[in-house]
Amino acid sequence: MPRDFASRIPPWPRSDTADEAALLDVLRSRRWWRGNGTQGDDFEAAFADALDVAHVRLVSHGTAALELALSALGVGPGDEVIVPACTFVATASAVLRLGAWPIPVDVEPETLNIDVALIEPAIGPRTRCIVPVHMAGQAAAMPAILHIARRHGLAVVEDAAHAHGARAFGRPLGSIGEASIFSFQSGKLMTCGEGGAVATNRADVAAQSFALHSCGRPKGDTEYRHLMPTTNMRLTEFQAALLFGQLRRLPEEMALRDRNAPVFEAGLRDAGLEPLATKPHVERHGRYMTMAWFDPAAFGGADAAALSASLRRMGIPAFRCFPPVHRTEMFAGDALALLSGRSGRAPDYARMETPVAERAAREAIWFAHPLLLGDEALVADVAAAVASLRTPSRPTRQATQPESEPA
Ligand SMILES: *Cc1c(COP(=O)(O)O)cnc(C)c1O
Repeated sequence: MPRDFASRIPPWPRSDTADEAALLDVLRSRRWWRGNGTQGDDFEAAFADALDVAHVRLVSHGTAALELALSALGVGPGDEVIVPACTFVATASAVLRLGAWPIPVDVEPETLNIDVALIEPAIGPRTRCIVPVHMAGQAAAMPAILHIARRHGLAVVEDAAHAHGARAFGRPLGSIGEASIFSFQSGKLMTCGEGGAVATNRADVAAQSFALHSCGRPKGDTEYRHLMPTTNMRLTEFQAALLFGQLRRLPEEMALRDRNAPVFEAGLRDAGLEPLATKPHVERHGRYMTMAWFDPAAFGGADAAALSASLRRMGIPAFRCFPPVHRTEMFAGDALALLSGRSGRAPDYARMETPVAERAAREAIWFAHPLLLGDEALVADVAAAVASLRTPSRPTRQATQPESEPA
């Protein structure tokens, strides 16, 4: 089997001549800025339509979208926000940036989504909000999460950075909580290099969102009015122009991924891995990541970092699962002490135990979605390449392994 997959993986991000024309149009219009162009406004309307929500605000990054959504919902210094322990760090670091404390809650082993049974015990008098992540593109248990949130008067912000086009519970993901966020960073399912969005049906969140993303200024202001202390999170018109093509191609790409995913997952099972389970509530899986558990003992003791590095050396886009957010260095030492000044005493992160997230960091790897945009032969060959890394621990009848020892 060829060991270099790099040339076989479909290129990502994708673009076509319509994207080239759209970029050239913006270039020649000289309206490169959100303040005098129309691309940002038009894409906000198109994305709101696609999500069936009242309002979308485009911003510079998914991380910025989290900050915007949380601050529009009133999260501030000393508050607590419940986040899954297993996620990209932005879900938690955006909370820290607001002077609030993320409270990591462990995830379910089957899906790596937040474990609903562990949410209520993590709620305290300072809790303001729950931020479920639709991990890898699979819907978190939104009805149960909303139920808990209602009972405690909390807001829910969906982190839908992995979930463009995904659906569950009769709704597009990103349209279920008080607000949601998307990322358009280069690796995500829709991208313009860097970018993000906040979606919401809440008029008050929408009303604040323009000023919050634009130095505190209301839309159309020419008088240097600045309503609130915030930052600049505006997206350029070039980026907004690219997002139309990303949205247009999404259904076709989702269909391709849906076709290849079962073949890939079956191949991974044959290789001894256990792909995350898909819950019955999933109507459409985003398939941002193909995430799977493996047994390090079957791979010569390799942990997720080592196994994924071996796969990358073959040109396969494979990565270790995220470390638990509160095990990153920003949750220790000086980084945290700095925040404690303005936010009160930090929670005791060192003592918070999230065993499933800890195990995922060592024993789960993920494959990037462009793999699923190829054909069935590609995903089958990738799975076979994974299998080839297993340690031959048992005697096999293969003639190529004469040295295999007796049982
Ligand atoms: C990518 C990502 C973000 C942040 O997106 P950026 O656009 O890179 O800032 C937030 N949450 C999750 C779960 C992500 O994977």
